[in-house]
Amino acid sequence: MIGRIATYVVLQALAGLGGWTLDRERGALLGVALTGFLWFLFDAFRGARLLAWLRQGECRDPPMRHGLWGEVADRTRRVVRNLNQKTQSSDERLQDFLAAIQASPNGVVLLDAEGRIEWCNETAAGHLGFHAERDREQLIGYLVRDPSFAAYMAAQNFGHEVMIEGRSSTFSRPVRLSLQMHPYGEGRNLLLSRDITALEQAEVMRRDFVANVSHEIRTPLTVLSGFIETLQNLPLDADERERYLAMMALQSQRMQSLVSDLLTLSRLEGSPLPSMQAWTSLPDLMAQCEQEARALSASLTATVGKPHQLSFTPAPHVALAGSPSEWQSAFSNLVSNAVRYTPPGGAISVDWQIQDGGVGDGFGTSSGGVVFSVQDTGPGIAPEHIPRLTERFYRVDRSRSRETGGTGLGLAIVKHVLQRHGAELKISSTPGQGSRFSIGVPGGRVR
Ligand code: ADP
Repeated sequence: MIGRIATYVVLQALAGLGGWTLDRERGALLGVALTGFLWFLFDAFRGARLLAWLRQGECRDPPMRHGLWGEVADRTRRVVRNLNQKTQSSDERLQDFLAAIQASPNGVVLLDAEGRIEWCNETAAGHLGFHAERDREQLIGYLVRDPSFAAYMAAQNFGHEVMIEGRSSTFSRPVRLSLQMHPYGEGRNLLLSRDITALEQAEVMRRDFVANVSHEIRTPLTVLSGFIETLQNLPLDADERERYLAMMALQSQRMQSLVSDLLTLSRLEGSPLPSMQAWTSLPDLMAQCEQEARALSASLTATVGKPHQLSFTPAPHVALAGSPSEWQSAFSNLVSNAVRYTPPGGAISVDWQIQDGGVGDGFGTSSGGVVFSVQDTGPGIAPEHIPRLTERFYRVDRSRSRETGGTGLGLAIVKHVLQRHGAELKISSTPGQGSRFSIGVPGGRVR
């Protein structure tokens, strides 16, 4: 600034001196006035250029670099550049936040003080059935018409959540949502939505399971207490007593099997996945299955005198990775089911097949895998029951299952064991002709 004043003073002095030499005082005055005017014009011109440059808005290359205006332009450029950088980084952070909220499995809706949508993520739009962009500024109450939500909004008591039916809910695929408002800022609200369909289904399953277990235990208990009462109140002869005690033993055996299967299931659900380091010899597994099957068949057909025809293909010398007791329980369950459901005199064959990469038994094409199958000539199973057989307590023939000591949990245990070992269960059956239960063990689990 001092330089600029000095330049101005020097120029004025020179102009005054020049004017003085030409026309004394008049010349000096004229020279000073003319120089002042020219200085003003030059300054105005540079100021106008600077203004035009600022109006462009970009403020990249300043129109001048020297003098006062040059410095103003340079400093303006730097201030604008810093502001731009700050805005850009805030913008990037905002985009990061929005992307994180978009990735959330829960729905998020920001509402203004009137309850209009300011922003929402795609999850919320999907849950509540509106368009994330198009429905901005719309009142949430117009878009979510569920009566429970309307009552929740009217009561303005947001200390709890409200459950509503999801927009995509259908009779066969119900969707349940939990919504809760969280007030923030000045009268604003954050609406969070959560898909609780799986949670509610799990709760229903838990209730059904408890009801089923209670029912299964109550039946033998009722029978047992009836016999106890009879034994206490009636004078029975030795034979009758023996018969009653045998029936009581059967009922308590039934309860024991049920509790033991329940414990097996809970162990399967609660324990870590079986190790890949433990190996079970297939011929040993088979030998045990065969022994159990023959004993079971003998006990079931003893009174009829028509034994089952059991055939066991010798197992190849391979070993399976995983828990030996779990493998044993899966294979034994299938073999014992075949024996229990096949009438006396029927045939049961247990086979093994090493897959060579061909289509095999319908278990994909992984080579080196093993397929275990149990074929029987029992009553067979109608197609509509097959997908439900592995559900807990699902039985096609309840009385046959009870008569033979079934708990209704055998195939549920098989399914769990196979899932834990990456193996698969396939069931094919023709009513009246028999059934085939196969287990496909992947190549990675066979040595
Ligand atoms: P359960 O203890 O009743 O046998 P499972 O879970 O082992 O329970 O089997 C479920 C149902 O599947 C059985 O109740 C039975 O109706 C049917 N089932 C299983 N295996 C056979 C089979 N080999 N032949 C016919 N029905 C079978």
